[in-house]
Amino acid sequence: MKTVSLPGGERVPALGMGSWMMGEVAANRAKELAALRAGLDAGLSLIDTAEMYGDGEAERLIGEAIEGRRDEVFLVSKVYPFNAGRRAMLKACEQSLQRLGTDRLDAYLLHWPGSVPLDETLEAFERLQRDGKIRYWGVSNFDAEGMEEVIAAGSGLPVCNQVLYNLGRRGIEWDLQPWLREQGIPLMAYSPLEQARLLRQRELLALAASLDATPAQLALAWLLRHDGCIVIPKASSPARVEENAAALALKLDAATLERLDHIFPPPSAPTPLEML
Ligand code: NDP
Repeated sequence: MKTVSLPGGERVPALGMGSWMMGEVAANRAKELAALRAGLDAGLSLIDTAEMYGDGEAERLIGEAIEGRRDEVFLVSKVYPFNAGRRAMLKACEQSLQRLGTDRLDAYLLHWPGSVPLDETLEAFERLQRDGKIRYWGVSNFDAEGMEEVIAAGSGLPVCNQVLYNLGRRGIEWDLQPWLREQGIPLMAYSPLEQARLLRQRELLALAASLDATPAQLALAWLLRHDGCIVIPKASSPARVEENAAALALKLDAATLERLDHIFPPPSAPTPLEML
């Protein structure tokens, strides 16, 4: 398994699993549980979730999927910005832990920048860390300017910045990605398949076929070749999870990368950070 180094030196799998929209439909539950367990079997042991997803149902599903296997998992959850205050965060975290059936999160991220002062949020993260409820704190949907503020607040480096990044959303390559790389902060790429919309792109389909790969594997392999990039596709069946895991073995040559740059051009100017 390719790994990515966290600021403190610990290494985590470069390919993990997302969970947005999981746990919401009872009829899909068994398949989703099987998908998450198949991912763990394949070494995709970093799981991303949030209190927001299914109003807690995704965390409940994950809690069930990892029962008896907690120590195998690097578990990431996210707090709503409106819960990111001194007291509210302690409660939100406790509720996430309960739903997940665990006593600690490996990483707890601020889901997006909100109106609670950053100092207060960082103070709450540090308190949770001291109490052993979270191992690391981090952020999501922060642009380069926002990241500068996080660093200036003096609480050390966040464990990652989770942002929208895929072949069709390359704006961060202009400023945020090089900045993160310089600081040694991992970028966690969300919606790596653009919620499956990328997989309908004709030229991507043709290029993938010429490589004997699936479009999902090509899109994921392209992200996985970036140093310091953790990729968290969401898939609801064991077959798809296994298909995505095989992207780790897909090596892209210079001609393929050039073709991808042609189909999905890199940014030629700064662009505001995109979010889903
Ligand atoms: P993804 O880009 O991961 O795409 C998920 C979609 O792709 C699903 O419809 C899934 O279908 C489908 N899919 C997955 N693998 C395959 C495959 N091999 N072949 C065909 N279709 C496939 O979108 P997400 O938005 O879910 O992003 C991933 C994760 O990132 C989220 O689940 C969440 O954890 C996180 N996230 C964080 C955000 C933030 O603001 N911090 C915002 C958005 C996402 P199916 O499920 O039916 O298998």
